[in-house]
Amino acid sequence: MKPVDIDALFLGPKSENRDFFKEALDFMMDEHIHWRRNFHPDDKDAITLENRRQDGFMSTLDRTREVLDELSDKLKASSLPWHSPRYLGHMNSDILMSATLAYMGVMLYNPNNVAGEASPATTIMELEAGQQMGKMMGFDPDKVWGHITSGGHIANFEALWFMRGLKSFPFGVKAVAPELLGSQSDWELLNLTPGQIFQLMDQTKDKGLFLEARKHSVRYTGMTADTLGQLIVPQSRHYCWDKAVDVLGLGLDNMTKIQVTSAFRMDMGHLREVVLDLMNKKIPIMGVVAVVGTTEEGAVDEIHEILKIREEAASKGMTFYFHVDAAYGGYNRSMFLDENDQFMSYSEMKGTLHEEKIVHRDLDWPPERVYQAYKAMSEADSIVVDPHKMGYTPYSSGMVVARDKRITDLISYFAPYVWTKGDLITTDRTS
Ligand SMILES: *Cc1c(COP(=O)(O)O)cnc(C)c1O
Repeated sequence: MKPVDIDALFLGPKSENRDFFKEALDFMMDEHIHWRRNFHPDDKDAITLENRRQDGFMSTLDRTREVLDELSDKLKASSLPWHSPRYLGHMNSDILMSATLAYMGVMLYNPNNVAGEASPATTIMELEAGQQMGKMMGFDPDKVWGHITSGGHIANFEALWFMRGLKSFPFGVKAVAPELLGSQSDWELLNLTPGQIFQLMDQTKDKGLFLEARKHSVRYTGMTADTLGQLIVPQSRHYCWDKAVDVLGLGLDNMTKIQVTSAFRMDMGHLREVVLDLMNKKIPIMGVVAVVGTTEEGAVDEIHEILKIREEAASKGMTFYFHVDAAYGGYNRSMFLDENDQFMSYSEMKGTLHEEKIVHRDLDWPPERVYQAYKAMSEADSIVVDPHKMGYTPYSSGMVVARDKRITDLISYFAPYVWTKGDLITTDRTS
């Protein structure tokens, strides 16, 4: 691979790369202008020279200029100098030239990624980006599904939607195909692993009963108080979790908060205690959320230890969906991967960080606990990462990745005015 020079990636604190930037911007704009002109080149101009000489035309453009002046004044007077190395007040920094140029270029084509027909180029790119993100998180790129959202808020909302739909699906199966469940009790149904539930989804699809089963899941029945149990979050969670629990009707009473240690990491002793206590009380756990890079402190929860607690609970008949909120720290996982996207050994990684001068030679980073936490992220059921944080892209972009794309069958809807195909869809729409 050819070396990458960071100095060539950003506009620069003094706009040092302005020549390249403007040239590339011009290129993107020209390309678009030509593209418009080449669409039915025989069509006459709709806006004629005469039109453009009208008073109203000129004054309308003048007004646009005034508005842009005003906007620019406001932006210059009060924006934060995120591009400057002097600024450390927020998590933001300069943004990538490639991302900014691409964003401005794509905007002119105005694709709507809600459906492939309205965004033939960018929907495919979104799917690719989802696969790439999944790969960076250590998921199987053939099974993963990623979705770009407006930010970490919506991405986490979506993850909670996944877990809510998944956890309730076995009750749909109980209603329409109980023979698939044998003699399992409700407690056992509440404690099936995501893998087992995906298998049930496949089995009901084989029998043509999937849509019917889904009608008896939370998607149709709605939430009834504490049906799916508790959502466990650390005290250090981002406040979007409180909003998500509220909006999705889970109720804040069903959110259990785990204390954090003096280093702002989820206290594993307390988590274990809570899990065992809920188990004794026969209160199910819908999911556990861990944070990789807390918003205020950058603390990394011990993902590998949480997985051990899940294993211990599983040996006693209880399990839970596991989500990692890595909105802030997710991109750091790239530092743990070699050029072939393989997770490096601890010593290899530390050596590389020193050799590449990414970490100062006097610094011993990362601590093993952080290394293990990042490594274990590949075991999560879903992960949220914000490109508009450490991905250095402009606002607003978040992303949710699910380890198993079958999850989309529980959450997707189809707009009647958008062209779609497939049995699932048409049958569902008649209901
Ligand atoms: C920033 C952040 C969010 C929310 O992201 P937005 O992009 O601001 O919506 C969620 N979780 C964590 C850990 C964050 O740092």
